[in-house]
Amino acid sequence: MSTEISQHELMQETHNGRLLRVEGLRTYFKTMDGIVKAVDGVSFDMPEGSSLGIVGESGCGKSVTSLSIMRLVERPGWIAGGRIWFHDKDLLHLPEEQMRQIRGDDISMVFQEPMTSLNPVYTLGDQVAEVVRVHRKVSRKEAMNRAIELFKLVGIPSPERRIKDYPHNMSGGMRQRVMIAMALANDPDLLILDEPTTALDVTIQAQILELVKDLQQRVNTAVMLITHDLGVVTEMSDRIIVMYAGRVVEDGDVLSVLKDPLHPYTKGLLASIPSLGKKNQRLNVIAGAVPNPLRMPQGCKFAPRCPYVMDVCRNEEPELLTQGEHGERKVRCWLY
Ligand code: SF4
Repeated sequence: MSTEISQHELMQETHNGRLLRVEGLRTYFKTMDGIVKAVDGVSFDMPEGSSLGIVGESGCGKSVTSLSIMRLVERPGWIAGGRIWFHDKDLLHLPEEQMRQIRGDDISMVFQEPMTSLNPVYTLGDQVAEVVRVHRKVSRKEAMNRAIELFKLVGIPSPERRIKDYPHNMSGGMRQRVMIAMALANDPDLLILDEPTTALDVTIQAQILELVKDLQQRVNTAVMLITHDLGVVTEMSDRIIVMYAGRVVEDGDVLSVLKDPLHPYTKGLLASIPSLGKKNQRLNVIAGAVPNPLRMPQGCKFAPRCPYVMDVCRNEEPELLTQGEHGERKVRCWLY
């Protein structure tokens, strides 16, 4: 069956609440030693208001996937193929001006290190108000009132006073709240959080995650959470996608994946969680390392690390196939 869908089919699905559909996305990087296929044929979709966790070790392609959705992949990277539908728009074929409008208005992104995303010479209120004014025709005063409202929404105490602060006056956790406030400034339909709590200590991390969960229910924004920490995904998301070496290796609802992980890599990730939500966990229980992207194994990319490897695995790459009566799970492994 073709993975392409017609505009008509897509419009119908959109009306059924489909927000985002990524189809066969390929994002490559040119290096001195050859082409790195950072994302190689990734497909998934997200309904409106849903929560999706994309998990995998560093270099698996999860962040490049989110940057591709935002069309923020920088040279020497480029989107080599695939489609990204957002509502009824094909993002990869939109003029840059329309894409700029979508960024920060319909889709917002929060990165790991808030200090580098905030401008040290402007007050936080000015920075949040500026985001509001880029997308809405409002006065400076109205934008500042919206900033105060947003500070309240994300639980920053004394917002009228704190909007006058500069980034260095705030703790890491508070700065991350400001980033989330900024991302929510224009009521986006999709909020992408890329390792949003990795730089924070455990208590603050838990508070930020709790805040995002609460906001998702209150403002009905769909949340895509990108993380190396499977524990965080299990707390935050309804659905999970596990990526390895630029590919999706498992896709399913969080409870079923937790109860019955199918892919050996997912099993390894689950076994590497000492306690849910703990900071700085390293996924080093899985033997071996992620393959060199310039020298990928020929068959299954996980074969050199897999305790269940068979001959076929080394020669042929398995496809991502649906499992279960209603095709609710997907796995890329010859065991199934
Ligand atoms: Fe392991 Fe083979 Fe499955 Fe790859 S295809 S994960 S090597 S069993």
